[in-house]
Amino acid sequence: MNRDLQIAIHFKEFEGQNGLDFPVYTAEGVLIGKLSEDERYFTEYFTGIKYLNLDIANANEVNEGFRFVVRIKDLKSASLFKGVDNVYKSFWKDKEDKIYFYSYNDKDEADFVYMEVDEFNNRLGTNLVVNTTEEINEMIDLLLDGDKEKVESYFEKHPEYLELIPNGQETKEYKIDKPISETISEIKKYIIAQDEAIKKIVIAIYKNITFDNPSMKSNILMYGPTGSGKTAIINTLAKVFDLPVWIEDMTRFTETGYKGADIDDILVNLYNNAEGNLARAERSILFLDEIDKKASNDGDKSFNKGDVLKSLLKIVEGGKFEVSINSYETVMFDTSKLTVIVGGAFTELYKKREAKKDTIVRGFGLTEEKEIQSSNKEITIKDFEKHGMPIEFLGRFKTIVRLNELTLDDMITILKDSDLSALKNYKKVLKKEGIELVIPEEIYIKIAEKAYEYHTGARSLNIVVDRIFEPILYEYFEDKNNVEVVELNGNLSEDKSGFKLTKKQQQLTIDGFEI
Ligand code: ADP
Repeated sequence: MNRDLQIAIHFKEFEGQNGLDFPVYTAEGVLIGKLSEDERYFTEYFTGIKYLNLDIANANEVNEGFRFVVRIKDLKSASLFKGVDNVYKSFWKDKEDKIYFYSYNDKDEADFVYMEVDEFNNRLGTNLVVNTTEEINEMIDLLLDGDKEKVESYFEKHPEYLELIPNGQETKEYKIDKPISETISEIKKYIIAQDEAIKKIVIAIYKNITFDNPSMKSNILMYGPTGSGKTAIINTLAKVFDLPVWIEDMTRFTETGYKGADIDDILVNLYNNAEGNLARAERSILFLDEIDKKASNDGDKSFNKGDVLKSLLKIVEGGKFEVSINSYETVMFDTSKLTVIVGGAFTELYKKREAKKDTIVRGFGLTEEKEIQSSNKEITIKDFEKHGMPIEFLGRFKTIVRLNELTLDDMITILKDSDLSALKNYKKVLKKEGIELVIPEEIYIKIAEKAYEYHTGARSLNIVVDRIFEPILYEYFEDKNNVEVVELNGNLSEDKSGFKLTKKQQQLTIDGFEI
């Protein structure tokens, strides 16, 4: 079976033929691509989109398919347009001087992307002339110059050219020009007390994007206790860098994968999350959370947890993967530009660090800062390996960052200053509604102290704040238009005794006169 480049005509179900009890198809475009061995699929060379054989498409009620596959070297003798001449003639009529490729736009609608003939000739070294609609056979013939090797080798040498035609969308090269300190300051508006980690992560991302060199790419391993800001950092990075982010909970994965959660699924999620913009999807930040749960074999013999990590290497290492988006669409996903961040609490390692800190403090009486630095040095790749992380996997993570356990003071600062603070957010949304929220100073400390008791980091701050606001919101939604001021009174109460609500002065009128 010859699987070289071939040409197919793409058909789409013609809409507006109501009354007919059979589907009517119109020819939509000429595709250059490859036919699968069993002749079920035709994969377009430029976009990687897969089309079903029309007979199979009909049987499966898919309204698109291909027909008439012709080998390029047979083109000269093929009566390619027999039976669809008229459609083609009108189709090409006003499209002279451009080369068209069939593709999809971001709304999943059929679209043609094009290139000026001159540019095409320049790039391919062809000598194509398009003048009349009568010459379509000849045009395709010329386009490929009957020389598939020339076309193939060109695209192999110039993969960047393929990016000119990604799913019918424009690709902008992603660049970062901002000084790194500005980016870091922006992140610190949200994330408190993790300065060292933020700096390391931002340097890694700047490096990945600026040098754009897969062999130098830094993937990031981030560990730290629950509620110290791992997920919050990821979401903030997405906002600040304007990149799509996808967070995957690794506890969903088993060695072989189960329906709805295997490695290919991650790529489909990244693609859909970037709204079908492949170039943007390939630039995503991918956060694999709870990676430590896949690290050790804690007696669960049904599968080897480490194998999940090994299978993830596929994505982390960077390569091209054919991913089926749906039953008839496939894209070539290049993972070499992804910033992969894996995260977990790694509680055992943390315990070890804490233990070390104690000895150091007792033995040498070092200051808090020095304690952290010296104990931080102790946690190495070897420790993660001992913790059950495969070394092949660890070897791919050049940047290792540790998040600090948040102190009571940090929690107070988060409440007061972070743009993620639940109190600040309540203040903001209430202001939009025309309501002033008055917060007495002591309540910041009280909320932080209460949240601190839960030992779930800053996560519990949000819970405590939400509880205080429940009765407030109840009152507000009951009498929305008349509330003017909400004043917290410093009691950490989850009922009405925790706040005072001032209502607007009602204007009384008698016989239409204000009094
Ligand atoms: P983790 O992923 O480490 O378990 P999260 O990032 O989910 O923790 O934290 C939960 C919430 O707590 C976040 O949405 C954020 O509101 C708050 N938070 C956690 N850490 C920080 C931090 N360092 N600075 C500001 N807010 C934080």
